[in-house]
Amino acid sequence: MDYDVNCIFCKIVNGDIPSAKLFEDDDVLAFLDVNPVTYGHALVISKKHYPNFLSCPKDIMNKVMNVAQRIGQVQIEQLGAKGINILINCKEAAGQEVSHFHVHVIPRYAATDGFKLEFKKLKEVNLPVVAEEIKSKLN
Ligand code: 5GP
Ligand code: ZN
Repeated sequence: MDYDVNCIFCKIVNGDIPSAKLFEDDDVLAFLDVNPVTYGHALVISKKHYPNFLSCPKDIMNKVMNVAQRIGQVQIEQLGAKGINILINCKEAAGQEVSHFHVHVIPRYAATDGFKLEFKKLKEVNLPVVAEEIKSKLN
């Protein structure tokens, strides 16, 4: 499915909902997040409707990430950001609210600028067992 009538990002691609656009080509659209977590928080999306990171074809993924990289560079050069976070929420359990593949490009001005991803460490993990579990299914 290229277009989902119930998808807010498809409506943005189609021009049915306005957005503050940053970049557009045949496959990729970038625009500002309507609820930015920092100044200049951008979203980069595939124009076609793929529900999430796992279902996006590799060639489109490459194009989306290239645009995300360029926007990150400009956030640093032009907005004075000191760093960026690239964030992809994939599926509801990971906090994905809009089911249309997108990459957050979040400019960071300081470690205390209000955005924080908390990494709470698991206490006891048998790393070789976990590694084997994953490796056994990788091609
Ligand atoms: P998710 O949690 O799915 O990774 O993030 C979805 C993001 O889309 C949120 O940060 C939210 O603010 C943003 N968003 C949701 N609806 C709209 C909209 O209509 N316009 C824009 N520009 N951003 C939106
Ligand atoms: Zn969509």
